Amino acid sequence: MGTSMPKKTPAYRLLDLLGPIERFRDMEEFGDFGLPTRSFSEDYLEPMAKAGRSSRLGPLEKVHAFWFAGMSCDGCTVSTIGATEPSIEELLTGALPGVPVMILHHPVVNMEAGPNYLRAHEMALTGELDGPYVIILEGSISDETLAIPTGGYWVAQGEQPWGPDGEDRSVTTEEWIARMADGAAASIAIGTCATWGGVPSAEGNATGSMSLMDFLGKDYRSAFGLPVVNVPGCAPIGDNFTETVAAILYFLQGFGPLPEFDELGRPAWLFGETVHRHCVRGSYYEEGEYAKEFGDKECLVEIGCWGPVVNCNITSRGAINHVGGCMNAGGACIGCTMPGFPDKFTPFYKTPPGSRVSTAASRLLGSFVRPLRMFTNDHLNREVRWDLHEDIPSGWAREKAEPTRAADGAHKFYDALRRRDDHGTGEAWGRGRD
Ligand code: SF4
Ligand code: SF4
Repeated sequence: MGTSMPKKTPAYRLLDLLGPIERFRDMEEFGDFGLPTRSFSEDYLEPMAKAGRSSRLGPLEKVHAFWFAGMSCDGCTVSTIGATEPSIEELLTGALPGVPVMILHHPVVNMEAGPNYLRAHEMALTGELDGPYVIILEGSISDETLAIPTGGYWVAQGEQPWGPDGEDRSVTTEEWIARMADGAAASIAIGTCATWGGVPSAEGNATGSMSLMDFLGKDYRSAFGLPVVNVPGCAPIGDNFTETVAAILYFLQGFGPLPEFDELGRPAWLFGETVHRHCVRGSYYEEGEYAKEFGDKECLVEIGCWGPVVNCNITSRGAINHVGGCMNAGGACIGCTMPGFPDKFTPFYKTPPGSRVSTAASRLLGSFVRPLRMFTNDHLNREVRWDLHEDIPSGWAREKAEPTRAADGAHKFYDALRRRDDHGTGEAWGRGRD
């Protein structure tokens, strides 16, 4: 841990407890152990990798990405695999012009295992890696200083010869991150557990779980000068993550400044709006029509939707490939992208207290506006020709009565209002023409 890390951050406290590391593995000792296919993922993907002289627009051909799982359900991994814009395959093969190939080190998807999997981690620590690296965390960071005195640990990834006499010991996710964060070109938290603590840090929190930002502290800066980048969601939208990674890779490549991030390290272009503002049910809210139970088509606020006060883009982006996503699919927003999740949103599926004022106002407004809109909608569902002939020549419309004289007069008034600034021919319009 370098000097940029102030004392008293949880990361510093852990390293203080563990002390420095001196010994690394002799890989000769292990041969092909952990290499069932006799191949590393990077070597396997090499023939497909596209970043090279023809597509390379900057100095970097590759960036290593070390994926760590803390207190996690692996949902972030699953949603990332489903991303399409860009897809993980595009990042792994450098298919986007100018974006360096991302060499992923992921404990679940890589072909190598055991010591051979951890070889690149060691090289990152010793400065022998053949390119810059970023670290990615899914899941929250458990406070291992609580577990170490008991001889146990909460979350670990592999073993290293870092015991007191050089013997192997489990290395926790927390320790890997504490040792690698200062050398990383960027540190990225994916999902609400890693960005804000999430479910593992909810009330009770026996493991002392915390976010990556809480762990590294407010003064943390990566080797390229970045504070922690946060892409929240439980699970997050895969595209939100891969798009952010692509933006960071462009930045590392030297293509201009980083796009805008907000004061909590969220990509501002993705989390700058409330989910309510793009919700497919928004007009029901505006007209004061609310669902009574799940399955109803109206606004879900009275059965527990927090959308008006939650930063999220799932209604406009969809969950996967622009499809699905909470309210699009019938679910109410429980605030899963927010730092206050889950404790500030429970009990779930109850009317948020703050919504009562606006729903009462919308009900009142809706009782005036809705009939007026239906009235105008009725008028707009008629051709001008039908108005002239006072008849709808549709076999489906036999039961539909012609407008009353009062309605007809109101429609004419509406048309006159609409055309008041129209300096065209001035010809009479619609039914008034005769
Ligand atoms: S369902 Fe939620 S996000 Fe959608 S309009 Fe209603 S309150 Fe807003
Ligand atoms: S709409 Fe709410 S519950 Fe759904 S993903 Fe967004 S923040 Fe989470």
